[in-house]
Amino acid sequence: MSFREWLRGLWGTKSSSATSKATAQPEVPGKVEGSPATRPVPPAHQRVEHLLPLRWSLYYALAKSEWAELRQRHREQHPAQERCSCPNGCRTNTLDELWTYDSPSATKRFLGGQWLCPGCHWLKSPTWRLETWIKEQQGILPPLTKPPHIIDCLGWTPRMVAELRAQDLVDAERQKNKLRELQRHQQRGEVLMVPCPWRRLPPPQRRALVRTGKRIVMIWDVDLSELSKLGYTTVEVNRFTRKMLDLGRTRMQGDLR
Ligand SMILES: [Zn+2]
Ligand SMILES: [Zn+2]
Repeated sequence: MSFREWLRGLWGTKSSSATSKATAQPEVPGKVEGSPATRPVPPAHQRVEHLLPLRWSLYYALAKSEWAELRQRHREQHPAQERCSCPNGCRTNTLDELWTYDSPSATKRFLGGQWLCPGCHWLKSPTWRLETWIKEQQGILPPLTKPPHIIDCLGWTPRMVAELRAQDLVDAERQKNKLRELQRHQQRGEVLMVPCPWRRLPPPQRRALVRTGKRIVMIWDVDLSELSKLGYTTVEVNRFTRKMLDLGRTRMQGDLR
C-alpha cells in the first residue's frame, strides 16, 4: 500500500472519502430526491444554502461521561484495534468519528468510529491542526521532545508540513470571513439564518419562511441511527441528536472560533 493510499484509507470508508471536510461554507443543495413529504429543503424557487458548522461532532456535543461511555462501547466491539494503520503501527488511544456528508439531503451521517494514534488523529482533524498552528504562532506551543509523528512516522517533509499549515490557516480565515459576511447579511435582513433542518421545522414555520421569499441559510441535518449498532436505544439516539442540533445552533449563531 502506498503512502497516499494509506492516507486515503485513514479518511474513512468509501462513502466518506470525498467528504471528510468540515467546512463552514454554505453548500447549495443539488437536486433533491425523495417524495415531497420527505424533502429536506424548501421549494425550488427559494434560495437555500446549507451551513455545515465547524467542530460539530459527538465529541463536542456529548457530556464527558457520555463520550467516555461511547468510547467504551466502541472499544468493547472492536477489541483488536490496538495498533493504528500508520507505518509504525503506533498505539491507538483516540476514537475518531467517521461521518459521511450527503449533499443532496444536506445530512451529516454518523458511520461509526475508528481508533487512531494521536498523531494520525491530529492530522485528520482540521480543528486540532488549527489549534496547533495558532499556538505555534502565539509562541505557546510546548517545545517538542521528539520529532513530530507527521514527520517521524508518516514521513512528511518539513516543507509538506509547512504547506499544510499555510493551507489550514487560509481555509480557516476564509471560513471565518464567510460566516461574518453571512451574519452581516442577516443583520441587514437580506438573509434568514435558520438553525434547524427543514424537515425538523414545524409546518407553520416552514410556510412562514417560504412566504418571506428571502434567501435562507439553514443548518445541515444529522443522522445518528448507526449508534444503535453500539447498543443505543432510539430514545438515546434521539437525545444525542438533539444535543448535536443544539450545538449546531450555537455554532451557527455566532460561535466563530
Ligand atoms: Zn497512526
Ligand atoms: Zn504512527
